[in-house]
Amino acid sequence: MNKISVVVPCFNEEEVLSMFYKKTSEVLNEIEDITYELLFVDDGSKDHTKDILRALSLKDDHCEFISFSRNFGKEAAMFAGLKKSSGDYVVIMDADLQHPPILLKEMYKAVSQEGYDCCAGKRVDRTGEGKMRNFLSHTFYKVMQKMCKMDMSDGCGDFRMMSRQMVDAILELKEYNRYMKGLFSFVGFDTKWIEFHNVQRVAGESKWNFSKLFAYALEGMFSFSTAPIVWIGNIGTAIMISSIIMAIFGLLVHVTSMFHLVCLILFLSGLQMLFVAILGQYTTKDYMESKQRPIYIVKETSRNLS
Ligand code: UDP
Ligand code: MG
Repeated sequence: MNKISVVVPCFNEEEVLSMFYKKTSEVLNEIEDITYELLFVDDGSKDHTKDILRALSLKDDHCEFISFSRNFGKEAAMFAGLKKSSGDYVVIMDADLQHPPILLKEMYKAVSQEGYDCCAGKRVDRTGEGKMRNFLSHTFYKVMQKMCKMDMSDGCGDFRMMSRQMVDAILELKEYNRYMKGLFSFVGFDTKWIEFHNVQRVAGESKWNFSKLFAYALEGMFSFSTAPIVWIGNIGTAIMISSIIMAIFGLLVHVTSMFHLVCLILFLSGLQMLFVAILGQYTTKDYMESKQRPIYIVKETSRNLS
């Protein structure tokens, strides 16, 4: 009998957890000839998330939880969940029911009968999300697709069921700066895509604000692409060549303009600072990797996981 592990990262999700548990268990109980575990990862929540998870694990043997010592972020929570999972197939789901549990049936069929290693949900619209967030996300994924030459299109999130082989391949990647969408793409394997429409979270609030999303976008870019370094080189070369041409032109026609000179100096200093900052991003990534700090720290787990 196959076992499905459902990994659920949770950060301040007290309002949605019982609904998530009810709906997801209902669907899992309808899938024939399987056993399952619901593996919740409390990512340092400040509300009653941990108490609810503790109660669930005592009430239902299918439920297990790990609780972090502080908020380490969704990437760390997903990694911890994958690491603790024991199923033949593992699916990652958000706690707010934005990943429709009903799709689990089709996902399981794809990985257990149709020969796929992975079956992933692809959100085809962003109805209900702010226009600005919509536009920025779309642009970010377009740029990433070009820069990384990997399949990271908009709407392809973390909602996916994977074979044990694929999960183990992801766990082999020990990097500290984890960007899961990139890691899924990096390990490869045959993926079936199932499209679904965006649903609003059932309760509570999104944990992402503009600055968190911006940091996440930079994380993705600097973890998976070295294209910005190539850009720096190209821009620097272009500026050098133009300045030589301008100098020759200046000698020929004897132009002097203090104001333009100041503007040029300011522009070039700004550009240099930006380039140093971009290089710095790669160096700090390397710095964090070399420290080999743990990706997360566990404070408490349910009985079966300890
Ligand atoms: N999450 C987490 N740690 C965080 C932020 C979010 O574990 O630091 C979880 C959150 O509880 C939810 C999932 O990641 O289960 C997706 O978060 P959210 O719904 O806030 O993101 P959105 O759907 O708005 O992209
Ligand atoms: Mg959500």
